[in-house]
Amino acid sequence: MFSATDIASFLACPHTASLARAESKSEIAKPFFKDPTVDLLRKLGLAHEQRYLRELAEKDRLAVAQIDVNGRWEDAVSETDRALHEGADAIYQATFLDGQWGGRSDFLVRVSRPSALGSWSYEVVETKLARSTKATAIVQLCFYSDLLSRIQRVEPQWMHVVLGGTATPERFQVQRYIAYFRKVRSEFETAWKLETETYPEPAEHCEVCSWFPLCDTRRRADDHLSFVAGISRNQRKALAGRGVTTVAALAKLALPPKPKIERIGDAALLRIREQARLQVQGREEGRLVYELLDHAGEGNGLAALPLASPADMFLDLEASPYVLDRGLEYLIGIVTLPSNSGDEPIYETLWSFSRSEEKKAFETFIAKVMERWRRNPEMHIYHYAPYEPTAIKRLVGSHGTCVDEVDELLRAGVFVDLYRAVRQGIRASVESYSIKRLEPLYDFARAVPLSDANVALQSFEAAMALGNGQEEIGDVLKTIEGYNRDDCLSALRLRDWLEDRRKELEAKSGRNSPRPTAKSGEPGEKLTTRLQEVREIIARLLAPLPADETEWTDEHRACWLLAQMLEWHRREEKSAWWEYFRLCALSDDELQEDGSALGGLTFAGEVGRIKRSLIYRYSFPPQDHAIDRALGVRDPRTGNNAGEIVSIDERNRTIDLRRGASSSAPHPTALVPFDIVDSTVLRDSLLRIASWVADHGITGSGRFQSARELLLREPPGVPRGAVGTLIGEDHQLTEAAKALLRLLPRQASVLPIQGPPGSGKTFTGARMIVELVRQGRRVGITAVSHKVITNLLGEVCRAAHEAGVTLRAVQKASDGDECQHSAVSLAKDNQAVLFALFAGYEKVAAGSPWLWAREEMADSVDVLFVDEAGQMSLANVLAVSQAATSIAAVIVASPALFQVQCKTPRQIELANAFCRYLEMAHPV
Ligand code: SF4
Repeated sequence: MFSATDIASFLACPHTASLARAESKSEIAKPFFKDPTVDLLRKLGLAHEQRYLRELAEKDRLAVAQIDVNGRWEDAVSETDRALHEGADAIYQATFLDGQWGGRSDFLVRVSRPSALGSWSYEVVETKLARSTKATAIVQLCFYSDLLSRIQRVEPQWMHVVLGGTATPERFQVQRYIAYFRKVRSEFETAWKLETETYPEPAEHCEVCSWFPLCDTRRRADDHLSFVAGISRNQRKALAGRGVTTVAALAKLALPPKPKIERIGDAALLRIREQARLQVQGREEGRLVYELLDHAGEGNGLAALPLASPADMFLDLEASPYVLDRGLEYLIGIVTLPSNSGDEPIYETLWSFSRSEEKKAFETFIAKVMERWRRNPEMHIYHYAPYEPTAIKRLVGSHGTCVDEVDELLRAGVFVDLYRAVRQGIRASVESYSIKRLEPLYDFARAVPLSDANVALQSFEAAMALGNGQEEIGDVLKTIEGYNRDDCLSALRLRDWLEDRRKELEAKSGRNSPRPTAKSGEPGEKLTTRLQEVREIIARLLAPLPADETEWTDEHRACWLLAQMLEWHRREEKSAWWEYFRLCALSDDELQEDGSALGGLTFAGEVGRIKRSLIYRYSFPPQDHAIDRALGVRDPRTGNNAGEIVSIDERNRTIDLRRGASSSAPHPTALVPFDIVDSTVLRDSLLRIASWVADHGITGSGRFQSARELLLREPPGVPRGAVGTLIGEDHQLTEAAKALLRLLPRQASVLPIQGPPGSGKTFTGARMIVELVRQGRRVGITAVSHKVITNLLGEVCRAAHEAGVTLRAVQKASDGDECQHSAVSLAKDNQAVLFALFAGYEKVAAGSPWLWAREEMADSVDVLFVDEAGQMSLANVLAVSQAATSIAAVIVASPALFQVQCKTPRQIELANAFCRYLEMAHPV
């Protein structure tokens, strides 16, 4: 029997099928080695699965049929079949067998879509520990969806993954993936039957593959090219095409090759050839050897090292992605230099075992750094590889704290990545540039063996993730501290060794290497003025709050929350700006290796014209990138807009950019994503609300009443349970719903409309809007995307036509995003929307939050509908609230369903805050 794992493994590495076939014929045996990681992952996976089972049974109150998996496979198959036909709400460990295909899916969940089973059918839900859905998970989902289709005789519409750290399924359309899955499955069948010859090409899957010892031995025997540090799979392929298949052969490759090797640039070929040459030299001499790379100019290689200071810090963090709901940075380790040169370096730790401790440890760390930096502005924080600053930025986002301090540190260039200095400054005869591999170069001996450290790290994660407590892990903590201390000390020794290499380079080249220029961490004048204004208002909002939170009233809480909202957008945008600046600081080579940017562009020519713009084509070398998902692209060398992406041809590796014909900007050699939308309009709206509240108080009549009602969690002016269902059996609004709509525009309030997925909230919302128009009201529509807005607007037009109500609408959207219905006109600017509402016949206007938050849109409609409101942050709902007397917010059943839409944990919290607020405001 073949399972989903066989197909997924085949997709990850075709060689797995060859080895499994050889094993089935007893030609080889699977190597056995006890890997604590695999055990841990198995345990954590089971815990995650059980958590979701409890969620279904206890929270969602579903009757879950649990299949007995301890008996015969055939019995479990029959039991599954019975549960499917009886229509159980959900089935846990549904077991399938169809010919040679069989397997066990985590969950099947019943949906109201007719099938051969009855008026219902099922969809597959898999639980995965990963934080993002991988291709192998999609294969598994398709595998079970396909087997399920054969029983219920209808293909499921969706398939779902519950990722680690969440109880929220992420869904995928079966139809989009099933054809590709069937192709992979048929390739697997063919490979198995024809016994296709394969080679153990290194793959990501090797890290968790049981066959690794066998494959590694074979690759070593073959002196496989994958042992060259920094070589890519595409480069290996291109070299193999020219008969270069070993490290030794690459080391001897004469440059430039004739003819040129396609798909490897000259610089990249020189880099890997030189790396191979040095590795061969190292193994011939039986020692680690290095060479200095001379990068004249500031900021590169050894010139990136600032002047050493006695106040410097050496930082290393320990983290686990599996601990708590979204991982934990559980140890911050710092080494500083002693005041007496003969003493040992000082090692300090900050441990966290809970989310609140993580916040406290982070704040303590940043306070310590700031205090030290203020006293010693020449100091730096050294780390190896980008993990530490990335984690620090993440902690800022997740706890909403130390934003300005971290911003200042980053702006001032306080963090120094030794990995970058190594990669650009030296070449060593190592197979990988991890710090552990480099340690023999500077004679660093670890106090804790790496094998002990690995076991301790796994044990700690298991104890924390499985909630076993910390009682028994005292020794484990000591080992982890020892390992972390080694990492910090290793960074210190490496920095000193690199300083010596710098001197060596200066002596060799006969010229001084420049040091990086000191940068100011101060924000610009405009930002400073804005921050002062915001902070003044925050201070006024918070002034009346008692120090003891337990004494806070609802009004105090509302003021506190409003104060938090004023900095929300800046906090959220920070991470996007930091990422953008990180990418801009990378070299073109590094951008090629970064998964989000596109590097190595070569201008290929002008290929077309659209109105007054030209289309330019650029070719690029093979690489992973996500540039097609970017909202906009910038040239990292100039920081300017690089044009609009017209098309990307992955097969021929070209990208077409549209730019103004008069543009004289240089052609970009790389593109970085730029996904930041200016939020000034939204922030200004919040500031107006906060300023009014600081002057007049949060309660009482006056301006911004729906915003204040929302902050105070006031229910709309209808008694709880007075409305019940909004749509009757005849698919029309009920009389109670119509009465509610008569009341709604007369009083400032927030009305949440709630229902589970597929319960027709758009249908209901559209009929409510038409009824309001029939009553002579002006209605606004907004949502997080133009797609959602356009969808609701289209439904409104259909509902108006059915109800015989004459309706005209105006929409502010870009060309191509607008609703195509003849009743909708497209407004090019905000004034056109206002004009249509007040001087025209339009009773419905639609646009993004950036439209409704503008000051000139204040009180422009009677009711503003926020569709898919659960995906919108509380800050944005408050920002748009000024446009209407009342807000109708359409949300779905569970706030948890919105988590997947949020970028940072802080966003999740605030999105949830909004949903909780709505729920508490008695949804209908
Ligand atoms: S160890 Fe790597 S190459 Fe070998 S079968 Fe597993 S994934 Fe494939």
